[in-house]
Amino acid sequence: MKLYLDFEPCKECKEMMNELSSPEMIFADEKTRTDESAKFLRHLTYNHNEVVQAVMEDLPKQKKDQEPDFYQ
Ligand SMILES: [Zn+2]
Repeated sequence: MKLYLDFEPCKECKEMMNELSSPEMIFADEKTRTDESAKFLRHLTYNHNEVVQAVMEDLPKQKKDQEPDFYQ
């Protein structure tokens, strides 16, 4: 999961971002990483709604860019 967003992370955000980028997490299994990402996204949803809005606006654009890959 890549998040290049312009926002002020709170203390919890920073802790979770540190966790997500720690070597333990990078080499963790898929489920653990998915769970951690989901936890972070939930926190964003409840505490930083403007960030979620920005991600949502960006999503259709990204999906469109990736579409040709589906047909290869
Ligand atoms: Zn936060």
